[in-house]
Amino acid sequence: MNNLAPYAVLPTNSRGRRIVEAAPNGRSEFQRDRDRIIHSSAFRRLEYKTQVFVNHEGDLFRTRLTHSLEVAQIGRSIARNLQLNEDLVEAITLAHDLGHTPFGHAGQDALDECMKEYGGFEHNLQSLRVVDVLEERYATFDGLNLCFETREGILKHVTKANARKLGEVGARFIVSKRPSLEAQLANLADEVAYNNHDVDDGLRSGLITQAQLEDVEIFSRHLAQVEKQHPGLAGRRKIYETIRRMINTLAIDLTTQSIQNINDAHLKDLSDVHSLPPLIGFSDKIKREQQTLKKFLRENLYRHYHVVRMSSKAQHTIKRLFNAFAADIKLLPQKHQLKFQQEKYQAIADYIAGMTDRYAIKEYQRLFAIEEE
Ligand code: MG
Repeated sequence: MNNLAPYAVLPTNSRGRRIVEAAPNGRSEFQRDRDRIIHSSAFRRLEYKTQVFVNHEGDLFRTRLTHSLEVAQIGRSIARNLQLNEDLVEAITLAHDLGHTPFGHAGQDALDECMKEYGGFEHNLQSLRVVDVLEERYATFDGLNLCFETREGILKHVTKANARKLGEVGARFIVSKRPSLEAQLANLADEVAYNNHDVDDGLRSGLITQAQLEDVEIFSRHLAQVEKQHPGLAGRRKIYETIRRMINTLAIDLTTQSIQNINDAHLKDLSDVHSLPPLIGFSDKIKREQQTLKKFLRENLYRHYHVVRMSSKAQHTIKRLFNAFAADIKLLPQKHQLKFQQEKYQAIADYIAGMTDRYAIKEYQRLFAIEEE
């Protein structure tokens, strides 16, 4: 890869893989990580996992798979502008949601509650567990044996108690160091993607309306631009034109502000990145606007009674599955019973977290419904 900044993650400053492997032929180490992620089972399952809407609610809503692709697209564009390692950003963004449970945040909260006495459940930690342990594809190791920097980026947050168990990849949470700029960027690309697609999906579902959004500055400002340029434009095209302008504004702001932060900090190399405060970020104005948009989405979409009802059903499903398995592990498929002997309740959490929305619904029916002939 050409023209990377000296503070980017480079092949020469990478901390490598846990199990040493021969260098790849014809691709970079981080391209190899990306390829391993794309070929993993957990990545394919993202197609049937959701964020806000449940998988069967409609074919046009985002799934975790399309969300991850959007995050990767936004992240890669900005990485190139900042001369950061685009392959690493792509690998982190494609893997960032691999550990998510079925049914979005409702599922994760329910599983965390079930696991309270056994160490809890954190989806970021679970994403790392997928790539470090749970994927079974290679002859000589468990997991995908990804590079340190990819694993560091995937582990966006973790409690200090769990960080202590993780060795070097958890160390930064204990000593308060920052991850690479690529990891910082992946995190914000996630935010750009979900805020914007939740506006789109929210409008499409009818749970929020354009009239409501006209009170939200970042939306109304871009809507006004569209109306000025394309008077008479209506319907979904008008919404798409507005949202794509919003994404563009955010990507440009993130690029410009981050360059300024990097220059102001006189950043020299990767070790500076770890000790300085976060350098990838939005301007204050955009930060405020993003907070207002998030607040709007929280109050009007995520807490809409339709979403709350669906979340409540999702939580009920996850908790009932967990409690049934915990009460009688013989209800688990054979493979997971064997894992239970080693991993105890973590094996149940792994099984449930790996389910897609529709698999969880089917498993619930298989366990609790007596079907008529
Ligand atoms: Mg995400």
